[in-house]
Amino acid sequence: NTETPYHFTDKPEAEKRIKPRQKFSHKGTFGHAVLIAGSFGKMGAAVLSAKACLRSGVGLLTMHVPARGYEIAQISVPEAMTTVDDAEKHIGKVPDLSSATAIGIGPGLGQDAATAKMLEKVLEQAKVPIIIDADALNILSTNQHLLYKLPANTILTPHPKEFQRLAGESSNEFERLAIARAFAARYKVIICLKGANTAVILPNGEVHFNATGNPGMATGGTGDVLTGVITSLLAQKYDPADAAILGVYQHGLAGDRAAEARGQTALIASDVVEHLGW
Ligand code: AMP
Ligand code: MG
Repeated sequence: NTETPYHFTDKPEAEKRIKPRQKFSHKGTFGHAVLIAGSFGKMGAAVLSAKACLRSGVGLLTMHVPARGYEIAQISVPEAMTTVDDAEKHIGKVPDLSSATAIGIGPGLGQDAATAKMLEKVLEQAKVPIIIDADALNILSTNQHLLYKLPANTILTPHPKEFQRLAGESSNEFERLAIARAFAARYKVIICLKGANTAVILPNGEVHFNATGNPGMATGGTGDVLTGVITSLLAQKYDPADAAILGVYQHGLAGDRAAEARGQTALIASDVVEHLGW
């Protein structure tokens, strides 16, 4: 429907965005994701995000973590390469981004002052698509001048609280959607407003409501899984709007499969990772 900005992502809408893997492809075909994530006590977020990234088809993944996170990353995610920051417990320096085809930043990151500086430099230096989540969003909220440094079509994935910090209070869902549309247009970014029926909002005002997902996913770590999925699609050169819409759909679908396998109550974020795939 061309009359309304509202769209609904069901199975056919999602699947038409999938790029099939070609027979003569190799891992170089599927890009190199760099995931900047983790801090002391929050390495699980980095691990979940990394696993989800790999399960979503990326060719190569580098996890960039604090020095103390080295063994955790290498042992938990043998498929990923790991680089470490000088700092023990947080990330304060920009990693090597020279071969990255996409950057995911935020899960478990913490909000150290040095980490905020690092985020600013990543925004200034990045030449590839970026997805920003979790503590990286919170850093944007407390340093709003950084919003003007967001490259066009950067993907932001706030849950309701993060969105409120970023863009202000709203009294109901309709107002929140209106604020998000204005925000996406103003900063030329893609916003995934997470929750039941996550809304993917494009800079042109289009809103894509997602069909998949369930309340079993209201548990720690599921958002970090989504960041990994979308980072993976961006690294594989999916157009950012397609990466956001398809990633949100596949993440919810994996959550629905996980809920089917073991019920909503027992569902944990690792189960969502295990049920990814198409
Ligand atoms: P986060 O709060 O960052 O861990 O993200 C939570 C993830 O779980 C997001 O992808 C949400 O869309 C999803 N989620 C949370 N609650 C629900 C729900 N009631 N129904 C569907 N998805 C949900
Ligand atoms: Mg989160």
